[in-house]
Amino acid sequence: MRSEGRIAMSMSQIRTRFAPSPTGYLHIGGLRTALYAWLFARKNNGAFILRIEDTDTGREVAGAKDVIFSTLRQTGLNYDEGPDVGGAFGPYIQSERAHIYKDHAEMLVKCGAAYRCFCTKERLADERAKAEAKGEAYTYDKHCLSLPDDEIQRRINAGEPYVIRQNILRTGETTYTDAVFGDITVPNADLDDNVLLKADGMPTYNLANVVDDHLMGISHVIRGVEYLSSTPKYNHLYRAFGWEIPAYIHLPVVMKDKQRKLSKRHGDASFDDFIKKGYLKEALINYIALLGWSPGNDQEIFTLDELTAAFSIEGLSKSSAIFDVDKLTWMNAQYIRALTKKDFIDRAMPYFKEAGVEAFDLELIADIMQPRLERLDEIPGKLEFLKEMPEYDLSLFTHKRMKTDAAAALPVLEQARALLEAQSDYSLDSLKEALLTLTEKLGIKNGQLLWPLRVAITGTEVTPGGAVEAACLLGKTDTLQRLDLSIRKLEETKNG
Ligand code: GLU
Repeated sequence: MRSEGRIAMSMSQIRTRFAPSPTGYLHIGGLRTALYAWLFARKNNGAFILRIEDTDTGREVAGAKDVIFSTLRQTGLNYDEGPDVGGAFGPYIQSERAHIYKDHAEMLVKCGAAYRCFCTKERLADERAKAEAKGEAYTYDKHCLSLPDDEIQRRINAGEPYVIRQNILRTGETTYTDAVFGDITVPNADLDDNVLLKADGMPTYNLANVVDDHLMGISHVIRGVEYLSSTPKYNHLYRAFGWEIPAYIHLPVVMKDKQRKLSKRHGDASFDDFIKKGYLKEALINYIALLGWSPGNDQEIFTLDELTAAFSIEGLSKSSAIFDVDKLTWMNAQYIRALTKKDFIDRAMPYFKEAGVEAFDLELIADIMQPRLERLDEIPGKLEFLKEMPEYDLSLFTHKRMKTDAAAALPVLEQARALLEAQSDYSLDSLKEALLTLTEKLGIKNGQLLWPLRVAITGTEVTPGGAVEAACLLGKTDTLQRLDLSIRKLEETKNG
């Protein structure tokens, strides 16, 4: 599986990465990060790399990596290097790189940029409580920085657990330039001596992101804004190693509304949540692309190729983006309409199966439904009447605006029955013409026939289209049979 093709990497090549943690779902914000990193790499003939950040072993969810692989594949965000495709800079799963982080942590200890810390949880909790009592922000007090070498060796030999902490000089300030947020300056006094290597030998994000981004030759780090203010700390590590600092592109948060972040708890934050709700992957990707990036004109519908051509870092915004479900739904409807009939049927098939209508004329269903749907998951509800006529209440015949009800419906339906019996052509156009001619003849509004007829043959007000479409889908025999039942029901009420 390994592609050993890239022997020497050209230093000028653009290399971006997507570095998700395997949580079991792909958050919309994460997918947007992946998309932008992919677009930037593709636009510049660079490489896009997938790296799985799973060093927080306690949080590992079974099957979570597969969710990431399959989402990226489905959406067309193919990666040049990654756990399941190989590459010259692997392994691409952090838990398989533990020895690399350990070696690098030791290098930092040797040059004084990091130190071993034996402080117990209790001591740290105590120190934190003291700082909080004074109303101060807690930072580690460098207690272990001054431990003599022989004491360190003795404690290691005795098997005492320790972590390795970054040693940050607390004077001065650190500045770097982010491509979206501009110059970021942080006083070094605000930076903590964070843990780089945990007692279990696993790295923290602080160490792993730096080591991996460097060793994997990442030229542009594209990630969420939550890392913006800790980046100066990472830059201290790059300097300690003597490595070139990559370009940074931090992306603003995706919000559910003005106050709340889009979060998994609301059941509307992951790629799969939206797919389950009947959104097309292409529509989602298109919508996500515009969450924080603008092409500089009013184009809204983009294929991935068009996005690649139009994408630029300059078009990224630093204000947080609000996820507008209505806008996504509108876009989804555009994408549904643009599918070929065959593609529509293929994608709608799970929903046809759910409705139990596979044996019906699916091409006809497609003709009727495709122009009207906003989401594919509307399909089962709208086709439920086809399999079986539901029990319904006569109040369904009442339609205030049409000025019609059960009593008014009966004579109209009797007329319609005669017409539908005489009619041999049950195609949409022909049925429509025949029924509209009847309304003219009776001197009633179209709705005064079409509304009761739909109720009478479907027993519901949720159908794809109206009476004409329902009759066409049911065909002559079923339409007449259902109509007879409804006419009888109306007569019984009238007489009873
Ligand atoms: N594993 C980190 C996350 O999922 C990745 C951040 C990054 O892109 O560096 O938030």
